[in-house]
Parts: sequence; C-alpha cells; structure tokens
Amino acid sequence: MVDSQYILPNDIGISLLDCREAFQLLSKEEKLYAHYVSRACWYGGLVVLLQTSPESPSIFVLLQKFFKAQSPWELQETATAVGLTPEEYQAFLVYAAGVYCNMGNYKSFGDTKFVPNLPQEKLKELVWQSRAFEKNPEEMERLWQACGNLMFSLDNRQKQLGLGTKGITTYFSGNCDLKDAELAQRFLDFKGISAYNTRLFKIVDDDGKTVYEVRLASVIMDDALSQGEPFNSCGTYEFEGFKFKVTRGDHSPLMKKVVENLEKAKSYAATANVEKMLEHYTRSFSTGSIDAHKEGSKHWIRDEGPIVESYIGFIESYRDPYGSRGEFEGFVAVVNKDMSAKFAQLVASAEHLLPQLPWPKHFEKDRFLKPDFTSLDVLTFAGSGIPAGINIPNYDDIRQTVGFKNVSLGNVLAVAYSTQREKLTFLEEEDKDLYIKWKSPSFEVQVGLHELLGHGSGKLFVQDNKGKFNFDTSLVNPETGETINSWYKHGETWDSKFSTIASTYEECRAECVGLYLCLNQDILKIFGHEGTDADDVIYVNWLTMVRAGVLGLEFYTPENQKWRQAHMQARFVILRVLLEAGQGFVTLRQTTGTDGKPDAIISLDRSKIATVGKTAIETFLRKLQVYKTTADLDSGRALYARYSQVTDSEPERFLTLRETVLLRKEARKMFVQANTRIEGGDVQFQNYEASAAGLIQSFVERFSEDSEELDLCLQDLCHSDSKHWVF
Ligand code: ZN
Repeated sequence: MVDSQYILPNDIGISLLDCREAFQLLSKEEKLYAHYVSRACWYGGLVVLLQTSPESPSIFVLLQKFFKAQSPWELQETATAVGLTPEEYQAFLVYAAGVYCNMGNYKSFGDTKFVPNLPQEKLKELVWQSRAFEKNPEEMERLWQACGNLMFSLDNRQKQLGLGTKGITTYFSGNCDLKDAELAQRFLDFKGISAYNTRLFKIVDDDGKTVYEVRLASVIMDDALSQGEPFNSCGTYEFEGFKFKVTRGDHSPLMKKVVENLEKAKSYAATANVEKMLEHYTRSFSTGSIDAHKEGSKHWIRDEGPIVESYIGFIESYRDPYGSRGEFEGFVAVVNKDMSAKFAQLVASAEHLLPQLPWPKHFEKDRFLKPDFTSLDVLTFAGSGIPAGINIPNYDDIRQTVGFKNVSLGNVLAVAYSTQREKLTFLEEEDKDLYIKWKSPSFEVQVGLHELLGHGSGKLFVQDNKGKFNFDTSLVNPETGETINSWYKHGETWDSKFSTIASTYEECRAECVGLYLCLNQDILKIFGHEGTDADDVIYVNWLTMVRAGVLGLEFYTPENQKWRQAHMQARFVILRVLLEAGQGFVTLRQTTGTDGKPDAIISLDRSKIATVGKTAIETFLRKLQVYKTTADLDSGRALYARYSQVTDSEPERFLTLRETVLLRKEARKMFVQANTRIEGGDVQFQNYEASAAGLIQSFVERFSEDSEELDLCLQDLCHSDSKHWVF
C-alpha cells in the first residue's frame, strides 16, 4: 500500500470550469483574440513539464499517445481484458488527469510527488495491450523506458521537489546544490540578468573545469551577439573563479508556438495599447529578454477593465527551490457581460440601496464611488494550478512605479464553493439538494453585494491637515450616545489605523452587507429571483455563510492562535455572531458520522432569518461601521478579537470542531477546461464532462492539431536534458 499522501484519491473532486455563457457573449473579434492568446498559453504551459521533473514530459507524451489512439471510454475494455479492476482503471484515469492538471507528476500545491495507485506491472500490461502500442510498439516501449520506473518511484529524493539531495528539480541540473544556486544568483545579479526565465546547468568540461550554463528561454537559439539587438547577455564570462556561459534557446520550439499565436492574436487586439503589449511579449519570448516582458507588463497594467484579460510568461517563483526562477503560466479570462450588467444595475441603484444599511445617513459617503471591481471568468489557465485570484505583475520595480492589477476569477471561486452531494460536509440531508441548486445563484448575489455595496459603502471621518473636518462634529455616535470624539487625523488611513485586523475586519463588514441586503426583494429581482426562488436564494446564502464559518476553522492555527486567511476569519466571526443570537436560529451539533469518525452538522432556521438573523447582523454591522467611521480602534479591536477567538469551551468546542473540519477536508479539486477552435472563420467553444475521462479528453483534443510534432519536440527536449539529471 502506497502512503495516501502520494496518490490522488479515486473520488477526487473534478469540476467544470464553466465559461460558456461569458464566452458566447463576446464579439467575434473578442472571441478570436481570446482563442489565439489561449493557444499561446497552452503551448507555453507545456514548458512546465520541463520545469517539474525529468520524467514529466515523457509521461505527458505517453498519455497523449495512449488516449489519442483510444478514448478513456474505449480503453476501459482493454483494461478489463488485461485484468485491471474498475478501481484500478479509475486510479489510472485520475493519475492521468492529475498529470495534466499539475502539468507534471508533482502536486502544484505542496510540491509532493503523486504516483499511480495501481500495480506497475498492470499499468505496463495495459500499455503493451493498448492500440497506441499496436500502432507503434518501438515508440511506446521507448516512452515506457523513459518514465515507467520514475512514475512509480518514491525514493526519498523523489518524494518532493527540492534542490540537490533534498529533492527533484529541473530548474537545476542534478549535480547542483544550494552553494551553486547562490553563486549563480550572485553572477546573475552582477550581470543584471533576471532569473525568471532561466535554468542552471553545471557542466564539467573535458579539462575537468566547471562551467555553469545559464539558459534563457527563447525562440532564438544562437549564443553569439546578434547585431542591432539591444538586449543580449549571451556569452562566456569569468566570475569568482568560475566560468559562466549564458546561452538562450531553452524550450525554443514551445516558445516559438507561443510567439506565433501571440502574433495572430495581435490582429484582433482591442486597442493600440494591447498591440504594444503583445509586441513586447513576443520580443521577450523570442529573445529571452525579461526587460521586454516588463515593458509588456506596463502596457498590461494600463489596459484597465478589458473585456478579455490575460497575462502570460514566467511568473511565479514558488516552485524553483531557490525561489527566483519563474514557472510558465498563462491565462485568458473574459468579462461575463451578463453578470456585469447585473452588477451595473446594482451600482445604478446604489443611491436608494445605501440608505437601507443600518447606520445613520451621515455615516455614509457623500457620493457613492464604485469600487474597482470586475469579475472575470477563466477561459484558459495553463500552468501547474489555478488560483482564485491574482495580483500581478511580480516585478517590484513596476509595482511601485506603474502599479499592478487585482484580478478576481469568478468561475474559479464559484467552483471552489460547489461540490458533489456526497462531499457536502456539515449540512443536514434535507438542506443538501437546495444548497446544490442555489449555491451559484446565491453566490453571485453575495459577490455583487460584497464587492460593490460592501466595500463601496461607509464613510471615514477625517480631519485634514488644516484642521478641517469632513463631518459635522456635533453628530451623535449611535453606539455610545455621545458626540463624536474620535476620527482619522491627517495622514491616517483605514489600513494604517486598524493595521493587523484591517483586512479581515473589512471583509467581515462587506460579507455582512451582503447578508443584510440580500434580504431586499428589489435586489434579488435585479439578479432574476422572485417569489419562492428568492426565498431559497436568501436561505442558501445565509446557510453558505454559516457553513463557511465552520470550514474557516481550517485556516486557524491553534499553536500561535492566529488566523491565516482574512475572508475565512470573517466568516467564522459571522458564524459566532449568529450563534450568539440564540433563539434556536443557528444550531451547531458535533456528531459521529456513519463512518464512525467525528462529524458535525450546522443548521439554520429559515423562518427566523428575517427576524432573529436580520436583527443580529444589523446590530453587529452597525458596530463594525461606526467603529470604522470614527477610527475607534480600541472598540473595533475588542469586538473583533472576541468573536475571532477559538477555544474549546462549551457548548461549541471550536478547537475540537477544527479537528473534525481538518479530518473531513476535501482534497484539492481538479478543473476541466474548455477548448476553442477555429471553424470557418468563427471560434467554436467546446465543454467537456466533469470527470477524469472528460479532463483527459480535453487535453487530447487541445493538442490534436499538431500532436505528432509536439510529441516529438517534447521528447527531443526531454532527451537533450536527460544527461544532466543522472549522476
Ligand atoms: Zn472583499
């Protein structure tokens, strides 16, 4: 039996990352643009195979050949014939889906290896009896030779990514350790070369001299100085007594595909600024210049609120064991025009909605300013994993001078909340169907209210540098009944004043606004809900909040009594407030599950939402706002700390509940993404089944156009590197 840490469970959650509606609402030009940038992302994403483990590219090619010759459904018969049980075959499909999702055989979250959960001999037999093998036995045998053992190996060094003897990495040749990495970093800093798109190979030449080769990812393969090209660090240098060689052309055939598709996308760019952005990107990927990528990123930041959003390049450096080399990543997300229209209506109604919030009108802003928020749906996310939001670029100098963008990925967030019925933890049986039916619609309402009227509402009382107040100093504080005696002094801001609790407190305020205003029928009408449907939306929205409060405990660390996630802390606080409301409104029971292990059930009396629930949130939300408005840090901190506290005192025993939450935590989900293809000048959109088989099928079709060429090029790249991995 393999340690469960190193396998993906057969019942792992697999969800469709649905973008169909948003995509269909795009114009023809926008669709074409999104299509070509997506293609660039997918080809670039294959670089991650070469950035993960020596065997990843071979595993990928093996799987592609396998499933191109026989679909996962067809292969089932062969599997049964060679003696695989249905569970073993499912384990193989889940493994394959995992390799595609993580772009390699190491988990993108946690960096540990995962292996197929079936005997190696059985998988080998399946390969040998497959149609792919029948077609080309030599090739399939060669691929198996290249990865069959490594696929299953759990030697200590193999178990995780790491440098030197600590683990596996392909950012460095196998003979590099921390000292080599540090030396190389000093060299790169000295030469002013960014590490983002590089890998390091330590080579001992014929005279026994050590040469460090710094390889830049680029289409261009020459080592020599090209004439007239402003950027070129290629060449040989002496540094601290060692020889360094800077070359380029790493991942060249893949970078070429990226560039070709970005060039095609350029014809459909929405603005001249976007054209410029693409020009810089293509120059960066052609020549290996990170400066060009920085220039592109500047144009990207200036491209405010586009219909089709994207970012592409060597971005996040989490997986380089030294932490300075970027993993390739590319995404395309599109504005959901339908949802944006609803959000716009919400903003248009702000003037008569804001007065309904539970604070005196003087505590509201003089003029409503729409917060900077657009929700985007991901069409394509290529790389090793999909985040729910991103804050890029990572270049510090650009963040400080030009800025950055915050992108919230709506359909990723929505999936993170949805789940299969069997995995729906902590709910009463009779709530589950309703929850599944109304989860997405109620989430949409909550997000709109949270972002626009939540973060967008409420005034701060400020005294400027000339001593002038922006509020009437004779106003009465509704919490104390006294005149206002605190405010923000010149130079003070919400964040600087409330510092450590500012972000979670503010998220809590925004969540409360969502709960409170979703009771308003006019708002629900904007989102298309009336009558009993509207009541169900309200119920599920509140139920989701209390369940999230329970799930949030995962993000609390008892050892240092700290919360690690602002939103989850906020939801826990709201759960506490609603429990405290009493009158049987929210019930939390710790039980024993059918499996004999600890479990819990949270329930909500829907008949009391409009009374007990509303009053509790109203009172709490008013306090949050009044303390915020009046810069009353002491009261705010005391209030928030009280509800954030996690103890094991009766009746809730939250620390025990936390153990149950961890025990019943769902494994990280995998996403099935759509494909787009050109047919008769138009872009066709294709969704797939939300299953391991559907996910596999999506990857086979994604690269069906030039799969032979890609397979060859991946094998070549893999082969030419292979001498650097074994010692
Ligand atoms: Zn927020």
